[in-house]
Amino acid sequence: MEILKYPDPALNGRAEPLTGDELTEKLKKTFREMFAIIYKAKGIGLAGPQVGIPKRFFVINPTGKPEDEQVCINPEITRKEGTLHEEEGCLSFPGLLGKVVRAAKVEIKYTDASGTEHKKTFEGFGARAVQHEIDHLDGVLFITHLSPAARSALKAKLNELEREFAKSAK
Ligand SMILES: [Zn+2]
Repeated sequence: MEILKYPDPALNGRAEPLTGDELTEKLKKTFREMFAIIYKAKGIGLAGPQVGIPKRFFVINPTGKPEDEQVCINPEITRKEGTLHEEEGCLSFPGLLGKVVRAAKVEIKYTDASGTEHKKTFEGFGARAVQHEIDHLDGVLFITHLSPAARSALKAKLNELEREFAKSAK
């Protein structure tokens, strides 16, 4: 499994809902592989489109403890509160960090890997990660939330990723 990197156009599409019959053993194995990737890369979350699966799900573990692993399928934000303005990164943008404004607290509705529905509130770090991952399902990348100044400060690194992508696509 490979993480798609900016500017791969597969990161810009809107992902489709995941249906119950698509929740196969094979996909559950994919969830395991995605957790392995985020631990190795010291990330927090990873969305389907980032591994080439254009479906609405992400895996997240804000603490890194095994009991905090969560698979969120067809997530929807049902409540937002407060604001956070903190540095954020993305496994599809290796080496890039930028400050993004997010809600400080979000409540989401989602289905887990066993098909059970949940409502859960995330705060701070976790809230930021959830909003970042849900953005991926809509083809929205975190750099679009940066201020023009913050974005231009990252221009050289973005150009570098663009060059690497052009090389790998040949
Ligand atoms: Zn990301």
